[in-house]
Amino acid sequence: VAKGAGKNQWRRYQSHLHDAMVERLELRSALDHAVHEGHFLLAYQPIVDLGSEEPVGFEALVRWYHPTKGVVAPAEFIAVAEESGLIVPIGRWVLQQALHTVAQWRRALPPDRLPYVSVNVSVRQFREAGFVDEVLQALAYAGVPPAALMIELTETLLAGDHETVWRDLALLREHGVRVAIDDFGTGYSSLGYLHRRPVDVVKIDKMFVDDMVDSPQQLALVTGIVGLAQTLGLTVIAEGIESPVHRDLLARLGCPLGQGYLWSSPVDGTEALAQMSYVPDGRAA
Ligand code: C2E
Ligand code: MG
Ligand code: MG
Ligand code: MG
Repeated sequence: VAKGAGKNQWRRYQSHLHDAMVERLELRSALDHAVHEGHFLLAYQPIVDLGSEEPVGFEALVRWYHPTKGVVAPAEFIAVAEESGLIVPIGRWVLQQALHTVAQWRRALPPDRLPYVSVNVSVRQFREAGFVDEVLQALAYAGVPPAALMIELTETLLAGDHETVWRDLALLREHGVRVAIDDFGTGYSSLGYLHRRPVDVVKIDKMFVDDMVDSPQQLALVTGIVGLAQTLGLTVIAEGIESPVHRDLLARLGCPLGQGYLWSSPVDGTEALAQMSYVPDGRAA
């Protein structure tokens, strides 16, 4: 009996494996189709100054507009896009579209409140030959200065000691593009490690923001990250701020910038511009 059960389990396991493989293949081919048809859109979430609570920039977040499923979140397709290499054309579109949008915003806004756009760049995309030139060309084509762009990279990119990665990051920064480390604290790099690396901004992962409210240890950790980042001359953005408690704690620690549902979930480009134009004391910008 035991043997029979084992055999059945094995068969079930095999069939799950098979289903998962088929699903991945289907996803990949649907994604390939979406790239050719241009079935993507961008949502923008404000990056807010914790002092004034006004947006200084917006993070561009990709969505797949699927003909039958509707809007698909990046969690459901970015991994497959990376694996298949489709992240390269998707990322190229994201960059161009985000720059096109930030150019529109900047034309519509007064010169003392020009926002930047922050674009997530996957490791694979960054390592693609010619990435730096592509960024510089996209900036020129959109007609915005490099200061209108920040790129967000994960710690995995910095993990290895790849000379070309450092060189390319340094090159982008020399031109004036800001470089941020996304989801800081979830990978293996430490702030000490980031010291003297070509990086401007550290984005503290939502996990720490959530945990610091109830855990003195986590609060101490966030305090340490904010303090040390400042010492190292890095700007900090706290992610996933959902409540006034989060906001007030972080502001008290001296964290300069934040992002989260407390202010806004990701919205379309038009609504983002409206958020920029809004002035808290009621004056129209
Ligand atoms: P991320 O770059 O860390 O982006 C932050 C994610 O947290 C976004 O999810 C955002 O909608 C969500 N978020 C923002 N504020 C809050 C909050 O207060 N509470 C909660 N619970 N969530 C919040 P989203 O848009 O689903 O993106 C997920 C991830 O997908 C991103 O994480 C990023 O790693 C990746 N991604 C998004 N767009 C792109 C892209 O264009 N290229 C690449 N390579 N990756 C992308
Ligand atoms: Mg990001
Ligand atoms: Mg993040
Ligand atoms: Mg995150």
